[in-house]
Amino acid sequence: MKITKISVYQKDLPLKHPYWLSGGRLKFEVLDATFVKIETDAGITGWGEGTPWGHTYVPAHGPGIRAGIETMAQAILGKDPRKLAHMERAMDQCLPGHLYAKAPIDLACWDIAGQAADLPIADMLGGRDKEGTWIASSVSSGDPDYMLDIIKSYRKIGYKVHSCKVGGDIDKDIGRIRFLEDNRLPDERILYDVNRAWTRREASIVMNAVADLGITVEQPCETLDDIAGLRQITTTPISVDESLVTLQDATRIARDGLAEVFGIKLNRVGGLTRAVRMRDVALAHGIQMYIMATGGSVMADTEAAHLAQSIPREFRLGTWACQDMLTIDIAPGQGARNVDGKLTVSNIPGHGIVPDPAVLGDPVAVYKE
Ligand code: MG
Repeated sequence: MKITKISVYQKDLPLKHPYWLSGGRLKFEVLDATFVKIETDAGITGWGEGTPWGHTYVPAHGPGIRAGIETMAQAILGKDPRKLAHMERAMDQCLPGHLYAKAPIDLACWDIAGQAADLPIADMLGGRDKEGTWIASSVSSGDPDYMLDIIKSYRKIGYKVHSCKVGGDIDKDIGRIRFLEDNRLPDERILYDVNRAWTRREASIVMNAVADLGITVEQPCETLDDIAGLRQITTTPISVDESLVTLQDATRIARDGLAEVFGIKLNRVGGLTRAVRMRDVALAHGIQMYIMATGGSVMADTEAAHLAQSIPREFRLGTWACQDMLTIDIAPGQGARNVDGKLTVSNIPGHGIVPDPAVLGDPVAVYKE
């Protein structure tokens, strides 16, 4: 089998509500999504998506995905998309780094490999647990009552896990965390996501002040060096996501005991081929995981749901349904959807999603052999 044609689509995905990242420092209202259709001489077609969570969150850029695909297209045309390590190497040789641009191609290749093997991606990744994965909400930063109102709106659609954005004024953060924990239901879990907004001093003050609560804090500071310093002076469990980009980051975190949780975001780490290695590092070292899209449509959520469901339940803390925050559905009725607060993947080979052409419109670029 070989790749004969690559078509690239751009779609703006508006958010239902404006979103403020931790500390109110980053606001955005629309996501710049790229969809990739890869066709083969075997008649199998695969789809991938790359949607950064805005371009102010981590080094990833919607137009950069399309530029990266243009650069890599000739290196992957003619290759067998089922040979995922060969695909990875071909992309790395012609464009080192730029993992976020490689993720949609990687997903389209997994979609093709799954269809060729007649297996859903989760089974290709080792096998599905029969239970779906709890969805974590993404709660925009704000006053405690405002944040609790958002949690209450997610409770109505079954959510039991919440990722609450904090960071900024540390006295307010201590108050916010105590208020939200006081109002947390017994079967709920809240992850407090700082999105790098604290300095080391601020992080140590807040994390020590709430150490009695047994909460988990995500990405409290900017770098892994900061988190390594913080780990020595705090006991509150840490999840790392923005600083978990490469396999070397994963092995360092595991070996040096820098964090207790991995937050694996698929677009950031370059797709499933790379993410599955991080999963295995985590499993080998007793590290639990959140597996999430970086942002995007039901396709990105479903990609994350496939990897999540290949993880034993005791290591799987949650996933995300960014689709619930959007005003556009690119594939109505398809893919992993919220049912009672969980995403569950289907038996359909590959990831099982073909976008509605009427929603995507015409490709912005087409590459052929
Ligand atoms: Mg996070």
